[in-house]
Amino acid sequence: MTVSTIALNDGTTIPQLGFGVFRVDPAETERIVSDALEVGYRHIDTAAIYGNEEGVGRAIAASGIPRDELYITTKLWNSDQGTQSAFDAIDLSLEKLGLESVNLYLIHWPRPDLDLYVETWAAMEQIQAHGKATSIGVSNFHAPHLDKLLASGTVVPAVDQIELHPAFAQAPLRAYLASKGIATEAWGPLGQGKYELFEMPAVAAAASAHGVSPAQAVIRWHLQKGIIGFPKSNSRERIAENFDVFGFELTDAEMAAIDALDAGL
Ligand code: NAD
Repeated sequence: MTVSTIALNDGTTIPQLGFGVFRVDPAETERIVSDALEVGYRHIDTAAIYGNEEGVGRAIAASGIPRDELYITTKLWNSDQGTQSAFDAIDLSLEKLGLESVNLYLIHWPRPDLDLYVETWAAMEQIQAHGKATSIGVSNFHAPHLDKLLASGTVVPAVDQIELHPAFAQAPLRAYLASKGIATEAWGPLGQGKYELFEMPAVAAAASAHGVSPAQAVIRWHLQKGIIGFPKSNSRERIAENFDVFGFELTDAEMAAIDALDAGL
């Protein structure tokens, strides 16, 4: 299976489909990430706050997959915002992951109440300059946070990882990000199982027309919109199903019908 890639604004590329490990039990992470790597995923999205970076690291080490074939993202937690705490946080994440560098390091949330994200971004730039993260970006940032960051920083974030699925398609924020050359990553790409996305007629119809599952149709919608995503599942069967999305293409009419599900929520 060849996973499509997206070119980032710093000259690197990212596999468009990855595997996310939010709420994956630390005790089960090694097994579940090993399953994902065996299925063929090469892009893993974790975070310090998930408490499972060590399990991700063990799965990477056990896989024997060359480091340059893997794309690993982790995130700096809110309590680590600030200069020295960011330097300490990346070192701890790298130690837990057993890596010399991550491909992508993100500020997890802007937390404007802390008023530290501009300072933290300057630290992220240094983390990148020291080679501890090839690319740097943000998560859950809205346009005003990014405007402030762009006005003070020298590196434009490579990505913004935001909640995004067909019922919450974030069109205005995606347009803003595109205008700044920032790639969009979707968290909760399947709606975290909360929005009955899979029962929505436009999703069900597209899935049945292509003989695929509703989850596969939703993942395909993300891919065809140029969005980077990393659906999560603990089940090997679903992990494989979610990766098997490169053998069909939604039609323009099917894409438009799924686009029409956006309720803003
Ligand atoms: P998701 O949208 O990927 O949904 C996961 C849920 O969907 C699973 O628990 C499972 O119940 C269901 N599911 C998965 N595959 C299925 C299938 N084939 N058929 C039926 N149901 C299926 O939600 P998520 O895990 O919250 O988001 C994906 C990743 O995004 C996370 O693992 C994490 O890496 C990232 N994330 C980031 C943030 C952030 O603040 N940056 C927040 C949440 C998640």
